[in-house]
Amino acid sequence: LFSLTGKTIAITGGGRGLGITLALAVVEAGGNVACLDILSEPSAEEWTSLSALAKKTGRSVTYHRCEVTDETSIESVMDTVARDATARQAPFWGTIACAGIQQQVPALDYPAADFDRILRVNVTGVFNTAKYAARVLRREGRPGSIVLISSMSGNVANRGLSCSAYNSSKAAVQQMCRSVAQEWGQYGIRVNTLSPGYIRTAMTDQLLQENPDVERTWMAGALLGRLGAPEDFKAPAVFLLSEGAAFVHGSDLRVDGGHCA
Ligand code: NAD
Repeated sequence: LFSLTGKTIAITGGGRGLGITLALAVVEAGGNVACLDILSEPSAEEWTSLSALAKKTGRSVTYHRCEVTDETSIESVMDTVARDATARQAPFWGTIACAGIQQQVPALDYPAADFDRILRVNVTGVFNTAKYAARVLRREGRPGSIVLISSMSGNVANRGLSCSAYNSSKAAVQQMCRSVAQEWGQYGIRVNTLSPGYIRTAMTDQLLQENPDVERTWMAGALLGRLGAPEDFKAPAVFLLSEGAAFVHGSDLRVDGGHCA
């Protein structure tokens, strides 16, 4: 039901953190994966595990440098991934738009240029990713699945942090999902958001370094007694990509350990 065998998925932000863990999940579910990121190379330890699993299972994993805010960059990488996928007889099936950035600045002092940069990566970058993935699917005349990584911060403001731009961007992704779902459902291209709660990654480590006391606040809302780990999102992401979610479209799947309950 949840197999991705014979399918190729592109994952932005696939160079480290949540993105590279979701790449592992795609391979574990039988798919091929292309990791797209601005990093010159992916995080070494995770890439070694991902490549080893791909080799063992006969899947393909590739890494592509890409800037999601640059339309030329994302269009050309999506086209390359789709061409390779056809050649490997595991056609392009969709994407996880996971690239994102975070910043803490008190709202009264937030420089407009910084606010714009967060929106540019987290909103326009996600839109570009979804748009060029959907264009490939349209051109090839196939259905597919697009997963946009939002956040519980799209529903509630992060407690103890000054993240007005980030929270705004994640709410925008949820409304973007509902909007493009209206347009792309007719082609069988499903679009959903996956909204994680707090996950221990480089992104949250940076926030905790800036503001160590905030972990206590986060734990107060952690009904399962812990923050998330990237592995907690593997099955939810595979579900949304898979045929098991054939009637799930324009939805938000919140995976936050009860934080927003
Ligand atoms: P991370 O910083 O470890 O990974 C983000 C990746 O995106 C990095 O590899 C980075 O190089 C890449 N990236 C950033 N800007 C890019 C650009 N312009 N073009 C291409 N790639 C770019 O962060 P993470 O914690 O793994 O977060 C992944 C996603 O999950 C983000 O969208 C984030 O907002 C979301 N999220 C994270 C948490 C959390 O607690 N960590 C919670 C909810 C949602």
